[in-house]
Amino acid sequence: MSDAAQTPQTRCGFVAVIGAPNAGKSTFVNALVGSKVSIVSPKVQTTRMPVRGVAMRGQAQIIFVDTPGIFQPRRRLDRAMVKSAWAGAGDADAVLLIVDAADLVAKPKGAAARDTDAIVESLKKAEHGKLPKISLVLNKIDELPRAELLPLVQSFSETGVFDQVFMISALKSDGIDEVADWSAAHLPISAWLYPEDQAADIPSRLLASEITREKLYFRLHDELPYATTVETEAWTAKKDGSVKIDQIIYVERAGQKGIVLGKGGQTVKAIGESARREMETIFGHRVHLFLFVKVREGWAENREHYRDIGLEYPEE
Ligand code: GDP
Ligand code: MG
Repeated sequence: MSDAAQTPQTRCGFVAVIGAPNAGKSTFVNALVGSKVSIVSPKVQTTRMPVRGVAMRGQAQIIFVDTPGIFQPRRRLDRAMVKSAWAGAGDADAVLLIVDAADLVAKPKGAAARDTDAIVESLKKAEHGKLPKISLVLNKIDELPRAELLPLVQSFSETGVFDQVFMISALKSDGIDEVADWSAAHLPISAWLYPEDQAADIPSRLLASEITREKLYFRLHDELPYATTVETEAWTAKKDGSVKIDQIIYVERAGQKGIVLGKGGQTVKAIGESARREMETIFGHRVHLFLFVKVREGWAENREHYRDIGLEYPEE
């Protein structure tokens, strides 16, 4: 008997979690990953997509990643993201589209409905076999009577573009195991990319950057390109158990600095407030967050950088 036959087969891969702001993406991933956070780095660098979290499912290691910009492909970098995501050029092995089902039922012609329809349409047109499998995850079902939900599930199933339609409440951890099992089943046979004992973690600094970037994007995505990045510069543990976190928000042009700062610094203050609250919840201790805004020119128009983050440079 060979070694391979004796060791249990492991799987590992990337599952893109997409959906409009507020759909429940973070809640869903956090529910599967747990809140344990510590410093860790992957064994190999294989993706430049932001990692949301890493979950273990039996012998499978699921790396949840972001493919942001999928909803508003207006700007150059965003278009590259969309192209990349839908062309399967990204590293994702499977895709989860998270939708706020309560919102969908309450506002059938609202933003959630439009986004979902747009994705269904683009999937219908997509070249068969080129895309990773995608499942629709109807979230927040705790806010909906079942009678309202079932017609929704049926209409989405009938589009034929989704591998599965799941109904979950990320908040109550209802139905999430089925989604994790589906995700695990679509991963390739592979060694784990994250060390086993740290599989539930991603680096605190990275996570802190990610939290701020998300708040920034949530608030300003109409005005700022996705190229805006956040880096955690310093992480200082204080004697009283709190942590001082210094972060730099990098924008591409001087004009964007003003957008991030807002009138009298109000925008960056509000972003910092909500980021700090989320960090305190996740890290489990008090956080003093200091945000600085700096201009890093030429970032989004630089070909090298596109290659660095695994995207094609959009020529049009
Ligand atoms: P994201 O922007 O997609 O990452 O969404 P979040 O995970 O930050 O969730 C947005 C809001 O929806 C938060 O207030 C969550 O508590 C809430 N939420 C997420 N999942 C559920 C759910 O299953 N049920 C209900 N009622 N609220 C949820
Ligand atoms: Mg989120």
